[in-house]
Amino acid sequence: MSEITLNAPKLFDLTGNVALVTGAGSGIGQRIALGLAQCGADVALLDRRTDNGLAKTAEFIAGTGRRSIQIAADVTSGAALSEAVARTEAELGPLTLAVNAAGIANANPAEEMEEDQFQTMMDINLKGVFLSCQAEARAMLKNGRGSIVNIASMSGVIVNRGLSQCHYNASKAGVIHMTKSMAMEWVGRGIRVNTISPGYTATPMNTRPEMVHQTRLFEEQTPMQRMATVDEMVGPAVFLLSNAASFVTGVDLLVDGGFCCW
Ligand code: NAP
Repeated sequence: MSEITLNAPKLFDLTGNVALVTGAGSGIGQRIALGLAQCGADVALLDRRTDNGLAKTAEFIAGTGRRSIQIAADVTSGAALSEAVARTEAELGPLTLAVNAAGIANANPAEEMEEDQFQTMMDINLKGVFLSCQAEARAMLKNGRGSIVNIASMSGVIVNRGLSQCHYNASKAGVIHMTKSMAMEWVGRGIRVNTISPGYTATPMNTRPEMVHQTRLFEEQTPMQRMATVDEMVGPAVFLLSNAASFVTGVDLLVDGGFCCW
């Protein structure tokens, strides 16, 4: 047996990394940002929200002893994302990790959907992820290494029973295949790119009061008979970003309580 250099718990250590997280002012992005800080990364927090979402995330991170910066920006603007990456590198150091979680969800029957509603979904959920990856990878290619996780959805793989959201489902299927494509473009240049596809997760996106009936259905339809918590998205993100996943690229990791098995 060759000499053992393996230190398994260390594989998940993100110390020395700088991460950018989009959608960090709420839900899944907020909790992943905190998780990355707990694993040792300094984190730039980006969101379009003007409430105290980002400040709340920054407050959580301060408790870990890691550094964070708050960036109010919209992921539909390539210029804003380039600026965000430049500010991250100036204030925190070379960018090596990114999680792109900013996204929206809504529903409307296909035959009634206005062109604008379809377009806005694509602009944020698909083009926004493209522009984020582009800005992040430009820095990572320069830095010689990087790992990106895009938050897609199981809706990119299955059609959610009872939900008329063809534009959302198409945007997420696009994120999954676009991620595989970018993974192959950058595979020889030190950058890994993967997706996480959450199943139904308890976040502000789908725990609004008017969703009570719907969330009961979500729980019933999920083999584990419940929705995911935001905390349950952190481990998969840390894994994919870390050296524990050093041979993993172009993968879509379903985190869905078994939903896609049935
Ligand atoms: P969330 O709590 O609403 O968080 C999403 C965050 O992204 C919000 O702060 C939102 O701001 C922000 N955002 C939206 N558009 C943006 C833009 N153009 N530029 C910058 N920030 C923007 O929702 P979540 O459930 O955590 O969703 C995070 C990701 O997980 C999304 O991509 C979603 O599609 C995906 N996902 C969620 C579930 C689920 O069940 N929750 C399941 C599968 C996949 P606003 O509040 O202003 O929109």
